[in-house]
Amino acid sequence: MARTYLKKATLTAASGASDVHDLVKGILTDIEAGGDETAREYAQKFDKYDGNIILTDAEIEAACALVPQKLKDDILFAHDNVRRFAEAQKGTVTDIELEITPGLIAGQKAIPVDAAGCYIPGGRYSHIASAIMTVTTAKVAGCKNIMATSPPRAEGLPPAIVYAAHICGADTIMAMGGVQAVAAMTFGLFGLPEANILVGPGNQYVAEAKSILFGRVGIDMIAGPTDSLIIADKTADAHIVATDLVSQAEHGYNSPVWLVTDDQALAEDVMARVPALIEDLPELNRENATAAWRDYAEVIVCPDREDMAACSDEYAPEHLTVQAADLEWWLDRLSCYGSLFLGEETTVSFGDKASGTNHVLPTSGAAGYTGGLSVHKYMKIVTWQRSTREGSKRVAEATARISRLEGMEGHARAADVRLSKYFPDETFD
Ligand code: NAD
Repeated sequence: MARTYLKKATLTAASGASDVHDLVKGILTDIEAGGDETAREYAQKFDKYDGNIILTDAEIEAACALVPQKLKDDILFAHDNVRRFAEAQKGTVTDIELEITPGLIAGQKAIPVDAAGCYIPGGRYSHIASAIMTVTTAKVAGCKNIMATSPPRAEGLPPAIVYAAHICGADTIMAMGGVQAVAAMTFGLFGLPEANILVGPGNQYVAEAKSILFGRVGIDMIAGPTDSLIIADKTADAHIVATDLVSQAEHGYNSPVWLVTDDQALAEDVMARVPALIEDLPELNRENATAAWRDYAEVIVCPDREDMAACSDEYAPEHLTVQAADLEWWLDRLSCYGSLFLGEETTVSFGDKASGTNHVLPTSGAAGYTGGLSVHKYMKIVTWQRSTREGSKRVAEATARISRLEGMEGHARAADVRLSKYFPDETFD
Protein backbone atom coordinates (compact mmCIF):
# COMPACT_ATOMS: atom_id res chain seq x y z
CA MET A 1 0.00 0.00 0.00
CA ALA A 2 1.32 3.46 -0.89
CA ARG A 3 0.96 6.69 1.08
CA THR A 4 -2.38 8.41 0.46
CA TYR A 5 -3.52 11.98 1.18
CA LEU A 6 -7.02 12.30 2.63
CA LYS A 7 -6.35 16.06 2.68
CA LYS A 8 -3.67 18.04 0.82
CA ALA A 9 -2.49 21.62 1.38
CA THR A 10 -3.27 24.17 -1.34
CA LEU A 11 -0.76 26.73 0.01
CA THR A 12 2.69 26.51 1.61
CA ALA A 13 4.64 28.69 4.04
CA ALA A 14 6.54 30.24 1.11
CA SER A 15 3.33 31.58 -0.51
CA GLY A 16 3.48 35.40 -0.82
CA ALA A 17 6.95 35.66 0.78
CA SER A 18 8.55 37.68 -2.02
CA ASP A 19 6.18 40.67 -1.57
CA VAL A 20 7.49 41.22 1.94
CA HIS A 21 11.20 41.51 1.09
CA ASP A 22 11.13 44.88 -0.69
CA LEU A 23 8.83 46.44 1.89
CA VAL A 24 11.05 45.37 4.81
CA LYS A 25 14.27 46.35 3.06
CA GLY A 26 12.80 49.83 2.48
CA ILE A 27 11.82 50.24 6.14
CA LEU A 28 15.28 49.14 7.34
CA THR A 29 17.01 51.59 4.99
CA ASP A 30 14.73 54.44 6.12
CA ILE A 31 15.31 53.73 9.80
CA GLU A 32 19.07 53.38 9.45
CA ALA A 33 19.17 56.80 7.78
CA GLY A 34 16.56 58.50 9.98
CA GLY A 35 17.35 56.95 13.38
CA ASP A 36 15.08 57.21 16.45
CA GLU A 37 12.55 59.59 14.89
CA THR A 38 11.96 57.41 11.82
CA ALA A 39 11.58 54.31 14.02
CA ARG A 40 8.99 56.22 16.05
CA GLU A 41 7.13 57.17 12.87
CA TYR A 42 6.88 53.51 11.86
CA ALA A 43 5.65 52.61 15.37
CA GLN A 44 2.93 55.22 14.93
CA LYS A 45 2.11 53.98 11.42
CA PHE A 46 1.92 50.24 12.15
CA ASP A 47 0.94 50.13 15.83
CA LYS A 48 -0.69 53.56 16.35
CA TYR A 49 1.69 54.09 19.26
CA ASP A 50 2.99 57.46 20.41
CA GLY A 51 4.08 56.59 23.95
CA ASN A 52 7.41 56.09 25.65
CA ILE A 53 9.65 53.58 23.83
CA ILE A 54 12.12 52.48 26.53
CA LEU A 55 10.22 51.70 29.72
CA THR A 56 11.37 53.51 32.85
CA ASP A 57 11.80 51.69 36.18
CA ALA A 58 8.60 53.35 37.41
CA GLU A 59 6.66 52.13 34.34
CA ILE A 60 7.98 48.60 34.84
CA GLU A 61 7.00 48.66 38.51
CA ALA A 62 3.54 50.01 37.70
CA ALA A 63 2.97 47.34 35.01
CA CYS A 64 4.12 44.53 37.33
CA ALA A 65 1.69 45.71 40.00
CA LEU A 66 -1.20 45.18 37.57
CA VAL A 67 -0.47 41.46 37.06
CA PRO A 68 -2.71 39.19 39.22
CA GLN A 69 -0.77 37.05 41.72
CA LYS A 70 -2.06 33.76 40.24
CA LEU A 71 -0.67 34.72 36.83
CA LYS A 72 2.59 35.83 38.43
CA ASP A 73 2.86 32.41 40.07
CA ASP A 74 2.33 30.68 36.72
CA ILE A 75 4.93 32.89 35.02
CA LEU A 76 7.38 32.15 37.84
CA PHE A 77 6.65 28.41 37.50
CA ALA A 78 7.30 28.50 33.74
CA HIS A 79 10.39 30.66 34.22
CA ASP A 80 11.80 28.22 36.76
CA ASN A 81 11.31 25.27 34.40
CA VAL A 82 12.85 27.09 31.41
CA ARG A 83 15.75 28.32 33.55
CA ARG A 84 16.57 24.87 34.93
CA PHE A 85 16.42 23.28 31.49
CA ALA A 86 18.68 26.02 30.06
CA GLU A 87 21.13 25.62 32.96
CA ALA A 88 21.36 21.89 32.26
CA GLN A 89 21.99 22.70 28.59
CA LYS A 90 24.72 25.12 29.54
CA GLY A 91 26.42 22.31 31.44
CA THR A 92 26.87 20.47 28.14
CA VAL A 93 29.02 23.27 26.69
CA THR A 94 32.40 22.78 28.29
CA ASP A 95 35.70 24.51 27.82
CA ILE A 96 38.35 22.05 26.58
CA GLU A 97 42.15 22.01 26.56
CA LEU A 98 44.34 19.31 25.03
CA GLU A 99 47.95 18.78 24.02
CA ILE A 100 47.51 18.15 20.31
CA THR A 101 51.18 17.32 19.79
CA PRO A 102 53.92 17.51 22.45
CA GLY A 103 54.21 21.14 23.51
CA LEU A 104 51.32 22.42 21.39
CA ILE A 105 48.18 23.02 23.41
CA ALA A 106 44.80 23.88 21.89
CA GLY A 107 41.58 24.78 23.61
CA GLN A 108 37.98 25.79 23.26
CA LYS A 109 36.05 28.38 25.23
CA ALA A 110 32.34 29.12 25.22
CA ILE A 111 31.80 32.88 25.50
CA PRO A 112 28.32 34.42 25.70
CA VAL A 113 27.58 37.24 23.28
CA ASP A 114 27.43 40.59 25.02
CA ALA A 115 24.15 42.09 23.77
CA ALA A 116 21.07 40.00 22.99
CA GLY A 117 17.92 41.44 21.42
CA CYS A 118 14.84 39.38 22.31
CA TYR A 119 11.78 39.86 20.11
CA ILE A 120 8.51 39.00 21.84
CA PRO A 121 5.68 38.83 19.28
CA GLY A 122 2.49 40.62 20.14
CA GLY A 123 0.46 41.44 17.07
CA ARG A 124 -2.23 38.77 17.27
CA TYR A 125 -1.66 37.27 20.70
CA SER A 126 0.20 38.48 23.73
CA HIS A 127 3.11 36.02 23.79
CA ILE A 128 4.06 36.04 27.49
CA ALA A 129 5.78 32.70 26.98
CA SER A 130 8.10 34.12 24.30
CA ALA A 131 9.42 36.60 26.87
CA ILE A 132 10.17 33.71 29.21
CA MET A 133 11.81 31.59 26.50
CA THR A 134 14.09 34.23 25.01
CA VAL A 135 15.07 36.35 28.01
CA THR A 136 15.59 33.52 30.49
CA THR A 137 17.80 31.62 28.08
CA ALA A 138 19.91 34.71 27.32
CA LYS A 139 20.32 35.30 31.05
CA VAL A 140 21.42 31.72 31.73
CA ALA A 141 23.86 31.92 28.80
CA GLY A 142 25.45 34.91 30.54
CA CYS A 143 24.64 37.80 28.14
CA LYS A 144 25.45 41.08 29.89
CA ASN A 145 22.95 43.22 28.07
CA ILE A 146 19.53 41.77 27.38
CA MET A 147 16.99 43.85 25.47
CA ALA A 148 13.37 42.70 25.29
CA THR A 149 10.94 44.28 22.88
CA SER A 150 7.29 43.72 22.00
CA PRO A 151 4.62 45.59 20.01
CA PRO A 152 2.63 47.96 22.20
CA ARG A 153 -1.13 48.34 22.18
CA ALA A 154 -2.49 51.91 22.24
CA GLU A 155 -2.24 51.87 26.05
CA GLY A 156 1.29 50.43 26.05
CA LEU A 157 2.74 46.96 26.60
CA PRO A 158 0.57 44.27 28.18
CA PRO A 159 1.56 44.21 31.89
CA ALA A 160 2.18 40.44 31.89
CA ILE A 161 4.75 40.83 29.08
CA VAL A 162 6.54 43.51 31.10
CA TYR A 163 6.42 41.37 34.25
CA ALA A 164 7.73 38.27 32.44
CA ALA A 165 10.57 40.14 30.70
CA HIS A 166 11.50 41.84 33.98
CA ILE A 167 11.61 38.79 36.24
CA CYS A 168 13.40 36.73 33.59
CA GLY A 169 16.24 39.25 33.52
CA ALA A 170 15.76 41.85 30.76
CA ASP A 171 18.01 44.86 31.25
CA THR A 172 15.89 47.01 28.93
CA ILE A 173 12.23 46.65 28.00
CA MET A 174 11.12 48.38 24.84
CA ALA A 175 7.60 49.08 23.58
CA MET A 176 8.13 48.55 19.88
CA GLY A 177 7.21 45.83 17.40
CA GLY A 178 7.88 44.67 13.87
CA VAL A 179 10.72 45.79 11.61
CA GLN A 180 11.26 49.00 13.59
CA ALA A 181 12.02 47.01 16.76
CA VAL A 182 14.48 44.74 14.96
CA ALA A 183 16.11 47.83 13.43
CA ALA A 184 16.32 49.64 16.79
CA MET A 185 18.16 46.74 18.43
CA THR A 186 20.49 46.20 15.47
CA PHE A 187 21.36 49.85 14.84
CA GLY A 188 21.55 50.77 18.54
CA LEU A 189 18.72 53.33 18.56
CA PHE A 190 17.16 54.91 21.67
CA GLY A 191 20.47 54.65 23.51
CA LEU A 192 20.54 50.82 23.24
CA PRO A 193 23.75 48.92 22.56
CA GLU A 194 23.96 47.35 19.09
CA ALA A 195 22.75 43.76 19.45
CA ASN A 196 25.18 40.93 18.75
CA ILE A 197 22.28 38.52 18.26
CA LEU A 198 18.56 38.83 17.59
CA VAL A 199 16.33 36.03 18.80
CA GLY A 200 12.67 35.22 19.02
CA PRO A 201 9.74 34.41 16.81
CA GLY A 202 7.68 36.93 14.88
CA ASN A 203 5.53 37.41 11.82
CA GLN A 204 6.78 37.57 8.22
CA TYR A 205 7.97 41.19 8.61
CA VAL A 206 10.05 40.37 11.68
CA ALA A 207 11.45 37.20 10.10
CA GLU A 208 12.35 39.04 6.89
CA ALA A 209 14.07 41.86 8.81
CA LYS A 210 16.17 39.33 10.75
CA SER A 211 16.99 37.50 7.56
CA ILE A 212 18.10 40.70 5.74
CA LEU A 213 20.25 41.83 8.70
CA PHE A 214 21.85 38.40 9.27
CA GLY A 215 25.59 38.73 8.96
CA ARG A 216 25.65 42.21 10.38
CA VAL A 217 24.00 40.73 13.47
CA GLY A 218 23.63 37.09 14.51
CA ILE A 219 20.18 35.53 14.53
CA ASP A 220 18.77 32.41 16.17
CA MET A 221 17.13 31.17 12.97
CA ILE A 222 14.96 32.25 10.09
CA ALA A 223 11.47 31.56 11.38
CA GLY A 224 8.38 31.12 9.26
CA PRO A 225 4.87 30.38 10.50
CA THR A 226 4.54 27.80 13.24
CA ASP A 227 3.97 24.22 12.02
CA SER A 228 3.02 20.98 13.77
CA LEU A 229 2.78 17.32 12.87
CA ILE A 230 1.03 14.58 14.79
CA ILE A 231 1.88 10.92 14.33
CA ALA A 232 -1.01 8.78 15.55
CA ASP A 233 -1.78 5.08 15.30
CA LYS A 234 -4.89 3.09 16.19
CA THR A 235 -4.16 3.43 19.92
CA ALA A 236 -4.63 7.24 19.74
CA ASP A 237 -7.69 9.08 21.07
CA ALA A 238 -9.26 10.81 18.03
CA HIS A 239 -10.72 13.61 20.16
CA ILE A 240 -7.33 14.46 21.67
CA VAL A 241 -5.59 14.28 18.27
CA ALA A 242 -8.21 16.61 16.75
CA THR A 243 -7.98 19.02 19.72
CA ASP A 244 -4.19 19.13 19.46
CA LEU A 245 -4.31 19.81 15.70
CA VAL A 246 -6.75 22.68 16.21
CA SER A 247 -4.69 24.04 19.12
CA GLN A 248 -1.76 24.59 16.77
CA ALA A 249 -3.81 25.77 13.77
CA GLU A 250 -4.95 28.77 15.86
CA HIS A 251 -1.42 30.26 15.71
CA GLY A 252 -2.11 31.92 12.37
CA TYR A 253 -3.98 31.66 9.06
CA ASN A 254 -0.84 30.13 7.53
CA SER A 255 0.17 27.69 10.30
CA PRO A 256 0.25 24.18 8.82
CA VAL A 257 -0.88 21.18 10.85
CA TRP A 258 -0.31 17.68 9.54
CA LEU A 259 -1.68 14.31 10.68
CA VAL A 260 0.31 11.21 9.76
CA THR A 261 -1.28 7.86 10.56
CA ASP A 262 -1.46 4.24 9.46
CA ASP A 263 -5.10 3.97 10.45
CA GLN A 264 -7.59 5.35 7.91
CA ALA A 265 -10.50 5.03 10.35
CA LEU A 266 -8.67 7.23 12.87
CA ALA A 267 -7.86 9.78 10.16
CA GLU A 268 -11.50 9.99 9.11
CA ASP A 269 -12.66 10.25 12.72
CA VAL A 270 -10.19 13.12 13.40
CA MET A 271 -11.19 14.97 10.21
CA ALA A 272 -14.84 14.71 11.16
CA ARG A 273 -14.17 16.25 14.60
CA VAL A 274 -11.95 19.19 13.59
CA PRO A 275 -14.60 21.59 12.12
CA ALA A 276 -16.72 21.62 15.29
CA LEU A 277 -13.66 22.17 17.48
CA ILE A 278 -12.61 25.14 15.31
CA GLU A 279 -16.16 26.52 15.32
CA ASP A 280 -16.12 26.50 19.11
CA LEU A 281 -13.06 28.81 19.37
CA PRO A 282 -13.25 32.58 20.05
CA GLU A 283 -13.52 34.67 16.87
CA LEU A 284 -9.86 35.55 16.10
CA ASN A 285 -8.66 32.05 16.90
CA ARG A 286 -11.49 30.59 14.83
CA GLU A 287 -10.55 32.71 11.80
CA ASN A 288 -6.90 31.64 12.04
CA ALA A 289 -7.67 27.96 12.53
CA THR A 290 -10.32 27.90 9.78
CA ALA A 291 -7.91 29.27 7.18
CA ALA A 292 -4.98 27.18 8.40
CA TRP A 293 -7.05 23.97 8.28
CA ARG A 294 -8.58 24.82 4.91
CA ASP A 295 -5.42 25.91 3.06
CA TYR A 296 -2.42 24.39 4.82
CA ALA A 297 -3.46 21.21 6.65
CA GLU A 298 -2.72 17.69 5.43
CA VAL A 299 -3.91 14.24 6.50
CA ILE A 300 -1.68 11.42 5.30
CA VAL A 301 -2.26 7.69 5.59
CA CYS A 302 0.92 5.59 5.48
CA PRO A 303 1.27 1.83 5.03
CA ASP A 304 3.22 1.22 8.27
CA ARG A 305 5.06 2.94 11.12
CA GLU A 306 8.40 2.98 9.29
CA ASP A 307 6.78 5.01 6.50
CA MET A 308 5.07 7.26 9.06
CA ALA A 309 8.49 8.03 10.53
CA ALA A 310 10.02 8.61 7.09
CA CYS A 311 7.10 10.88 6.15
CA SER A 312 7.50 12.90 9.36
CA ASP A 313 11.24 13.30 8.80
CA GLU A 314 10.53 14.61 5.29
CA TYR A 315 8.31 17.37 6.74
CA ALA A 316 10.89 18.09 9.50
CA PRO A 317 8.16 19.73 11.60
CA GLU A 318 8.74 22.41 14.18
CA HIS A 319 6.54 20.55 16.69
CA LEU A 320 6.20 16.78 16.50
CA THR A 321 3.74 14.81 18.59
CA VAL A 322 3.58 11.03 18.78
CA GLN A 323 0.40 9.44 20.06
CA ALA A 324 1.20 5.83 19.22
CA ALA A 325 2.37 2.61 20.82
CA ASP A 326 6.05 1.99 21.64
CA LEU A 327 7.21 5.55 22.33
CA GLU A 328 10.83 4.41 22.78
CA TRP A 329 10.87 3.18 19.17
CA TRP A 330 9.71 6.59 17.95
CA LEU A 331 12.22 8.49 20.10
CA ASP A 332 14.97 6.33 18.68
CA ARG A 333 13.78 6.43 15.06
CA LEU A 334 12.71 10.06 14.46
CA SER A 335 15.45 12.50 13.53
CA CYS A 336 13.96 15.73 12.13
CA TYR A 337 11.94 17.94 14.49
CA GLY A 338 12.30 21.07 16.58
CA SER A 339 10.73 19.59 19.70
CA LEU A 340 9.19 16.16 20.25
CA PHE A 341 6.15 15.44 22.42
CA LEU A 342 5.85 11.77 23.28
CA GLY A 343 2.50 10.34 24.31
CA GLU A 344 -0.95 11.70 24.97
CA GLU A 345 -0.02 12.90 28.46
CA THR A 346 1.99 15.79 27.09
CA THR A 347 1.17 18.24 24.31
CA VAL A 348 2.75 21.03 22.26
CA SER A 349 0.90 23.60 24.39
CA PHE A 350 2.93 22.45 27.43
CA GLY A 351 6.18 23.12 25.58
CA ASP A 352 4.81 26.36 24.13
CA LYS A 353 4.08 27.77 27.56
CA ALA A 354 5.56 26.18 30.63
CA SER A 355 7.18 22.73 30.63
CA GLY A 356 10.78 23.98 30.30
CA THR A 357 11.89 23.13 26.76
CA ASN A 358 12.22 26.19 24.54
CA HIS A 359 9.34 27.13 22.23
CA VAL A 360 11.43 29.14 19.76
CA LEU A 361 11.87 26.39 17.20
CA PRO A 362 12.84 25.86 13.55
CA THR A 363 9.92 26.09 11.10
CA SER A 364 9.37 25.40 7.40
CA GLY A 365 11.64 22.34 7.32
CA ALA A 366 14.59 24.04 9.05
CA ALA A 367 14.55 21.20 11.60
CA GLY A 368 16.42 19.30 8.90
CA TYR A 369 19.53 21.28 9.84
CA THR A 370 19.00 22.94 13.23
CA GLY A 371 17.35 22.63 16.60
CA GLY A 372 15.60 25.47 18.39
CA LEU A 373 16.68 28.25 20.70
CA SER A 374 19.04 27.13 23.45
CA VAL A 375 21.80 28.66 25.53
CA HIS A 376 24.17 27.51 22.76
CA LYS A 377 22.68 30.02 20.31
CA TYR A 378 23.80 32.85 22.60
CA MET A 379 27.31 31.48 22.96
CA LYS A 380 30.34 31.67 20.73
CA ILE A 381 32.43 28.52 20.74
CA VAL A 382 35.90 29.96 20.16
CA THR A 383 39.30 28.29 20.08
CA TRP A 384 42.81 29.21 21.25
CA GLN A 385 46.30 27.73 21.16
CA ARG A 386 49.78 28.21 22.53
CA SER A 387 53.02 26.30 22.07
CA THR A 388 56.51 25.75 23.39
CA ARG A 389 59.32 26.45 20.95
CA GLU A 390 60.01 22.72 20.66
CA GLY A 391 56.27 22.11 20.15
CA SER A 392 56.15 24.57 17.25
CA LYS A 393 58.82 22.75 15.19
CA ARG A 394 56.79 19.98 13.58
CA VAL A 395 53.75 22.16 12.94
CA ALA A 396 55.93 24.93 11.45
CA GLU A 397 57.53 22.47 9.01
CA ALA A 398 54.13 21.15 7.92
CA THR A 399 52.70 24.66 7.69
CA ALA A 400 55.56 25.93 5.50
CA ARG A 401 55.27 23.03 3.06
CA ILE A 402 51.46 23.09 2.84
CA SER A 403 51.48 26.88 2.41
CA ARG A 404 54.04 26.76 -0.44
CA LEU A 405 52.06 24.09 -2.22
CA GLU A 406 49.02 26.36 -1.96
CA GLY A 407 51.00 29.30 -3.29
CA MET A 408 50.74 31.18 0.02
CA GLU A 409 54.32 32.35 0.45
CA GLY A 410 53.51 34.83 3.24
CA HIS A 411 52.03 32.03 5.36
CA ALA A 412 55.10 29.87 4.70
CA ARG A 413 57.45 32.65 5.84
CA ALA A 414 55.53 33.09 9.11
CA ALA A 415 56.49 29.46 9.81
CA ASP A 416 60.05 29.81 8.44
CA VAL A 417 60.85 32.80 10.62
CA ARG A 418 60.14 30.75 13.73
CA LEU A 419 62.10 27.73 12.57
CA SER A 420 65.18 29.88 11.82
CA LYS A 421 64.86 31.75 15.13
CA TYR A 422 64.27 28.74 17.41
CA PHE A 423 66.42 26.18 15.54
CA PRO A 424 69.23 28.25 13.93
CA ASP A 425 71.54 25.28 13.54
CA GLU A 426 69.08 23.14 11.57
CA THR A 427 68.03 23.26 7.93
CA PHE A 428 64.45 22.74 6.80
CA ASP A 429 63.14 22.06 3.29
P1 NAD B 1 4.51 40.21 15.66
O1 NAD B 1 4.89 40.86 16.94
O2 NAD B 1 5.45 39.27 15.05
O3 NAD B 1 4.21 41.35 14.58
C1 NAD B 1 3.53 42.53 14.90
C2 NAD B 1 4.23 43.69 14.20
O4 NAD B 1 4.13 43.51 12.79
C3 NAD B 1 3.63 45.03 14.50
O5 NAD B 1 4.31 45.62 15.58
C4 NAD B 1 3.85 45.82 13.21
O6 NAD B 1 4.90 46.73 13.38
C5 NAD B 1 4.25 44.78 12.20
N1 NAD B 1 3.38 44.87 11.03
C6 NAD B 1 2.07 44.53 10.97
N2 NAD B 1 1.59 44.76 9.73
C7 NAD B 1 2.62 45.27 9.00
C8 NAD B 1 2.76 45.69 7.65
N3 NAD B 1 1.73 45.63 6.80
N4 NAD B 1 3.94 46.13 7.23
C9 NAD B 1 5.00 46.17 8.07
N5 NAD B 1 4.92 45.78 9.38
C10 NAD B 1 3.75 45.34 9.82
O7 NAD B 1 3.10 39.51 15.95
P2 NAD B 1 2.17 38.61 15.04
O8 NAD B 1 1.81 39.31 13.78
O9 NAD B 1 1.08 38.19 15.95
O10 NAD B 1 3.02 37.33 14.64
C11 NAD B 1 3.56 36.44 15.59
C12 NAD B 1 4.18 35.26 14.86
O11 NAD B 1 5.04 34.59 15.74
C13 NAD B 1 3.18 34.24 14.35
O12 NAD B 1 3.54 33.90 13.03
C14 NAD B 1 3.37 33.06 15.28
O13 NAD B 1 3.10 31.81 14.68
C15 NAD B 1 4.83 33.19 15.60
N6 NAD B 1 5.20 32.53 16.83
C16 NAD B 1 6.13 31.54 16.68
C17 NAD B 1 6.61 30.89 17.79
C18 NAD B 1 7.67 29.85 17.60
O14 NAD B 1 8.28 29.43 18.54
N7 NAD B 1 7.98 29.44 16.39
C19 NAD B 1 6.14 31.24 19.05
C20 NAD B 1 5.21 32.27 19.17
C21 NAD B 1 4.77 32.92 18.04
